[in-house]
Amino acid sequence: MTDSLARGCLAKMAVEPGDPARYTLRAGDDRLPLGPLLGEPLRLAWSGAIACTNCGRATRKSFGQGHCYPCFKRLARCDTCIMKPELCHYFQGTCREPEWGESHCFQPHIVYLANASGLKVGITRATQVPTRWLDQGAIQALPILEVDSRQQSGFVEMLFKEEVSDRTNWRAMLKGETPELDLPGERDRLLERLAPGLAELRERFGADAIRELDASPRSFTYPVLEYPTKVASHNFDKRAEVAGRLMGIKGQYLMLDSGVINLRKFTGYEVAVSHGES
Ligand SMILES: [Zn+2]
Repeated sequence: MTDSLARGCLAKMAVEPGDPARYTLRAGDDRLPLGPLLGEPLRLAWSGAIACTNCGRATRKSFGQGHCYPCFKRLARCDTCIMKPELCHYFQGTCREPEWGESHCFQPHIVYLANASGLKVGITRATQVPTRWLDQGAIQALPILEVDSRQQSGFVEMLFKEEVSDRTNWRAMLKGETPELDLPGERDRLLERLAPGLAELRERFGADAIRELDASPRSFTYPVLEYPTKVASHNFDKRAEVAGRLMGIKGQYLMLDSGVINLRKFTGYEVAVSHGES
């Protein structure tokens, strides 16, 4: 016997900071707080359907985390310049959706250091903090610079990538063995080392275009009973049913005793979640 807990197309889990962070699974209109389910057997069954998160149309395959192919080709948020903001082509008049660009890209962005699996640099819209860090499974984060647009943040990030990775090793993140870092110390070291490059960017975008922030480091904890020693991942495309005891939640991953699943990867998949025997 199984109890149905939620049913519908998956969206990114909602997460709020706390000790530990509080996660809510979102499937269609259903909202399922996951904290109370820690240690419980869960079952997620994919119906085989995927709906585009933008237009709602059925799609056989998900493009760009939950879009149908036409939306993936049409929406500015699915364009290459979102992942590589230094390629922003708004000023060439070729932005896929100029109004969307103005409200999302031409907004203050921050450049931050985070620690999910070691030191990394990242960029995000100022309003996405701290959700962005929780979505990555960061245990620490520190905003270091603020700029006026996504494109500028891309140039700053490219400079930082000479010294720091911009990637998270998700397997390491899920093992929970990442040591803490002195992020303010790393910030000071990097700002000094990259001072000539930052001066060049300020010359290009204006003296006050790249502003140093005097923020305090943040720390995050996650609801985890036990970290996996070996990280195996579930994939609805290979097996439509995922079941196991919920051992933890970190980033956008559910950690089951049978393996982990990145729910964000399956945005738009129609899933039934039940409290069932595994
Ligand atoms: Zn669509």
